[in-house]
Amino acid sequence: KNRNIGETEFLQAVSEVAETIIPYVKENPKYRNTKILERIAEPERVIIFRVPWLNDKGEVEVNRGFRVQMNSSIGPYKGGLRFHKSVNLSVLKFLAFEQIFKNSLTGLPMGAGKGGSDFDPKGKSDNEVMKFCQSFMTELYRHVGADIDIPAGDIGVGNREIGYLFGQYKRIKGEFTGVLTGKGSEWGGSQIRPEATGYGLIYFVEEILKLKKESLKHKKIVISGAGNVAQFAAEKCIELGAQVLTMSDSDGYIYDAEGITIEKLNFIKKLKNQNRGRIQEYANEYNCAFVEGKKPWEIACDIALPNATQNELNEADAKVLVKNGCYCIAEGANMPCTPEAIAVFNQNKVFYAPGKAANAGGVAVSGLEMSQNSLRYTWSREKVDKKLKGIMKDIHKVCVKYGKEENGFINYEKGANIGGFVKIAEAMLAQGLV
Ligand code: NDP
Repeated sequence: KNRNIGETEFLQAVSEVAETIIPYVKENPKYRNTKILERIAEPERVIIFRVPWLNDKGEVEVNRGFRVQMNSSIGPYKGGLRFHKSVNLSVLKFLAFEQIFKNSLTGLPMGAGKGGSDFDPKGKSDNEVMKFCQSFMTELYRHVGADIDIPAGDIGVGNREIGYLFGQYKRIKGEFTGVLTGKGSEWGGSQIRPEATGYGLIYFVEEILKLKKESLKHKKIVISGAGNVAQFAAEKCIELGAQVLTMSDSDGYIYDAEGITIEKLNFIKKLKNQNRGRIQEYANEYNCAFVEGKKPWEIACDIALPNATQNELNEADAKVLVKNGCYCIAEGANMPCTPEAIAVFNQNKVFYAPGKAANAGGVAVSGLEMSQNSLRYTWSREKVDKKLKGIMKDIHKVCVKYGKEENGFINYEKGANIGGFVKIAEAMLAQGLV
């Protein structure tokens, strides 16, 4: 704690994992005197750099760039870049820490990293975003590479930004390699990568529901966010016959009691991905409610999918969800539920699927994109989707294996933490004090 003063989000993420890992480490003599958890919690390397760029008015702007190279015990560093005004070292260290367990759970050979900048893409022109990305990569290029560190997208970094970053890397290095994932399908990207996190989340929820011998059909779903993860989670839910009632952005949420259809979702996709508009416009278009400044957790549902950002669902929200009959929460976002909210879910024996398991589909397909880049070959949509489904099923199995309690309750949080930890610990111990 002394070493990470003020890093609230990072300490929150480590404490959450430590709670389940410390007893496990104590029970297993092979971890004695290895300081394994302390070693995992310390990044291998953190790079912080200046990102100067010129805005459209010809003025100089300066942002801070980061890359946290967290763990390379099972493969090259892998994890997204986030561009958001709230980005700081604590946020990126928490994300990089979570990424260790998530990447391990996918079963693919990927280490963990995370990076980004406090650059706020909101209200910036395409030209400004391009200039920023080029400046960002002009420093980052020397620290990344297809066998070293392979960044991807995250909040504020989508197809457009990955394109500008990739173009600049290629220009500086003079090589076309798989240094980034989330590339366009015409230039090295994988099929299903845009959909992967959202689809994977729903494949995971399907596995949970199978335990109750149920399916998604006619289930009421409440979703937060309206970005990449939220859009494709909603799409898969609708496809499987569920009723999606809400989506949101940082201004508030829309509540469509009739359910969001594929046609209405296409409006949201266009609104968010092309026009870069606000979710409120959906309410105007389809004449439904827009609730300003609030989160959608007050709407009664069977399943809640927090898909926006960290700590967006607190204890009070959790109590309301449970009171209204919600029995499954699956995190598309990273650490969206506070520790107090998770405690409410556990007390009420509600299925709670943590992000490191439930949203691992995105990085899993990024791993598949890396494989395809190495092969210089592209797989079909069907093939990648099938592999994604298989990976999510396997992650679910691992969670059940390590998370099933004596009374039969499945503690997914414990299962994901231990399941992710085992492989990393083995690899780190095998590689000596590095
Ligand atoms: P996007 O940038 O595409 O969308 C983010 C969405 O969340 C937007 O609707 C945004 O609203 C909202 N949001 C972001 N920050 C806040 C905030 N502080 N308060 C309220 N709303 C906010 O990001 P993604 O969909 O890619 O990522 C969403 C979450 O999923 C993140 O936690 C990310 O780490 C996680 N994730 C993403 C993966 C991926 O493959 N993309 C993989 C695994 C996890 P607004 O437009 O108003 O900012």
